[in-house]
Amino acid sequence: MSISIEELNNILEKAENAFLTIGKFSIQKRVSLMRTIAEEIEALGPELIQAAKRESNLPEGRLTGEKARTVFQWRSYADALENGSPLDASIDTANSERTPPKPDIRKTHVALGPVAVFGASNFPFAFSTAGGDTASAIAAGCPVVLKAHPGHPETSLIMAGAILTAVAKSGFPEGTFSHVELGSIEDAQYLVSHPVIKAVGFTGSNRAGIALVEVAAKRKEPIPVFAEMGSINPVFLFSGKLNASASEVAAQYVGSLTLGVGQFCTNPGLIIARDSPALSIFTQTLEDEIAKVVPASMLNPGIAKAYSGNREKLVSQSGVAVLAAVEEVEEGQGGATVAIVSGSEFLTNDALQEEVFGPFALIVKCKNEDEIFAVTSKLHGQLTATLLATVDDVAGNQDLIEVIQSKCGRIIFNNFPTGVEVCKSMHHGGPFPSSSNSQFTSVGSDAIKRFVRPLSFQNWPDEFLPEELKNANPLNIWRTVDNVLTKEAV
Ligand code: NAP
Repeated sequence: MSISIEELNNILEKAENAFLTIGKFSIQKRVSLMRTIAEEIEALGPELIQAAKRESNLPEGRLTGEKARTVFQWRSYADALENGSPLDASIDTANSERTPPKPDIRKTHVALGPVAVFGASNFPFAFSTAGGDTASAIAAGCPVVLKAHPGHPETSLIMAGAILTAVAKSGFPEGTFSHVELGSIEDAQYLVSHPVIKAVGFTGSNRAGIALVEVAAKRKEPIPVFAEMGSINPVFLFSGKLNASASEVAAQYVGSLTLGVGQFCTNPGLIIARDSPALSIFTQTLEDEIAKVVPASMLNPGIAKAYSGNREKLVSQSGVAVLAAVEEVEEGQGGATVAIVSGSEFLTNDALQEEVFGPFALIVKCKNEDEIFAVTSKLHGQLTATLLATVDDVAGNQDLIEVIQSKCGRIIFNNFPTGVEVCKSMHHGGPFPSSSNSQFTSVGSDAIKRFVRPLSFQNWPDEFLPEELKNANPLNIWRTVDNVLTKEAV
């Protein structure tokens, strides 16, 4: 049930108080809270999967996997915190003999303050209530005010219950995590504009993400909004690869395009290739493979309606032809569709870069290498870009690859973008408009860095320094001491 602004104000006051209390806790206590949250989520019974299945239409197998991923996120971010990675502690020792004398300077990273998190509809566990944004903010030491996604309210409440149980068991204050249902866009924007909130984590549409960025920028004290938004994730088909295995590549591509009814921000929705006989073999196999796709229900009727509306809008653009489509779909389902357009049309029409969230792809057929280069240069920022190529294709297209790299946050060689590994080296975030800040990831333990800020201590007595900066290195973490990475004491 939606809460009133008065109730929201009370929750924000509790979050502010919790922030001060958590700041006094040891890092190990925070690590322990995160591990307890992982245990509580792991222990949730079948009612979690059943609720999510009912509310999102996602199959049980997928939800079971997503639950395991969510638990893993909490555990791996806890491990990262225990290892000191998000603290990035560094020490430059004093030198009294230098002229002028050099002071002792030590740097760590501290929590920003309470964070508002807006979960996504397409990952009810891993990117929602107990998802990566919440886990990163808690790891950073920030209380979380979670705005529940209206697409899965019961699932959200069950997950919130697990977090709240762990908060109580671990001796963390009320206000460490709050679950709020808000009745209007105005209330959601009020949350972001509230002075207690110091950062925002968001996953969803461009429209909503940009609205929140604008609200945050207009505050008296502007705050960062880490919005992970839409992307069409271009796939580049290179001639060497196509000549060698056009049919095989087409079949693999359709598998990635239609996975989860295409409801991934990393869905490969754009193909860029040069016109050739091998491309005709690719498109022929693609038509055959699309014909075999069994339609399935989308997350909710709103997303299905948006899919069919956005798809119609795109295929009715000048020069666009439908190449393959699953027509026999029931209400609420998303029929896989692939359309095709020339490179010259693509260059003159920005609407062809609009995300159609679902199993939709547009092939841009270019007449030569120059046109591929021009089309690539015109692309908006992307979460990912994929090269289906041979090593010789890569060697022969270095200038093009340079441009592709400037457009994306993850560049993939002979693999597919759907499937975002949770690890330190993952970057899930790309140049605008795929995300609002291309410097930070929302997946992998580096996601914690979004919610901390550097703090330097100068000539500070050892006994009053935070644990991670003390001479003895009691946390046994990696630190940069006088420019050398070490676990040694100072
Ligand atoms: P959404 O419309 O962006 O909503 C996400 C969250 O933001 C919801 O909690 C929503 O609350 C809130 N919100 C929406 N507009 C807002 C505004 N102007 N100001 C403040 N808060 C706002 O995303 P969705 O409902 O999950 O899916 C809709 C579309 O988003 C999809 O069709 C797809 O295009 C895209 N999408 C992208 C991703 C991705 O990973 N990039 C994931 C899922 C969806 P209320 O609903 O309560 O207003």
